[in-house]
Amino acid sequence: MEKILEFARTLISSKKGDKEVAIDATCGRGNDTCFLAKSFSKVFAFDIQDEAVESTTCATKDLDNVKVIKDSHENICTYVQSADAIMYNLGYLPNGNKKITTLAQTTIASIKCAIGILKAEGIISIICYPGHPEGFIESKEVENYLRSLNQKEYDVIKYDFINQINNPPYLLAIRKR
Ligand code: SAH
Repeated sequence: MEKILEFARTLISSKKGDKEVAIDATCGRGNDTCFLAKSFSKVFAFDIQDEAVESTTCATKDLDNVKVIKDSHENICTYVQSADAIMYNLGYLPNGNKKITTLAQTTIASIKCAIGILKAEGIISIICYPGHPEGFIESKEVENYLRSLNQKEYDVIKYDFINQINNPPYLLAIRKR
C-alpha cells in the first residue's frame, strides 16, 4: 500500500484532462513543487515563511515553469484564477520552526478559494497531521468542512491508516466533477 504522500501524488498524476496550472499551497522545502513542475505547464508555490520560500526557490532554480510566492494560501485567488491541481501538506516545516504551523481557520479559508478556482476534473489533495495538538483541531475542522461539500459536485475521499497509533497523518482529497 502506498504511503500518504505517495498516494496523494498518485491521485494528482492520475488526473484526467488538462494539466495546465497547479498550486503547491504549502511549499516548504519544495518537494511537491518539483513533483508538480514535471507534469503541469505552470506551478504556483505558496508559503509564508522565508526559510520555506528560500528553500523552494533554490530547489526550483533550474525550472522555468515555477513561480514561488511569499504569501498566505488564503490569498491564492489574488494570483491564480483557475487551477487543475492543488496540493496541501499541512503542519509545520520539516526541520524548521515548529511554532509556524498551518491553522484551521486560514486553511479552510484557503481551501474555499481553491475549490472556487478548481476546474472540472481538478483535484485538491490535503495531507493532515492530527499527531500534534494544533494539527488535531485543524484536521477535524478541515474534514468536517469537506464532509459538507455537495456530493453531486465533488467526490471527497479519506485515505487513513486506521490501525496505527498516535494519530498518524492522513490524506483528504477532493475531485470536482
Ligand atoms: N510540502 C512541504 C512541507 C510543507 S510543511 C515539503 O515537501 O517540504 C507546511 C508548510 O506550510 C510550512 O513551510 C509552513 O511555513 C507553511 N504554512 C503555514 N501557514 C501557511 C499559510 N497560511 N500559507 C502558506 N503556507 C503556510
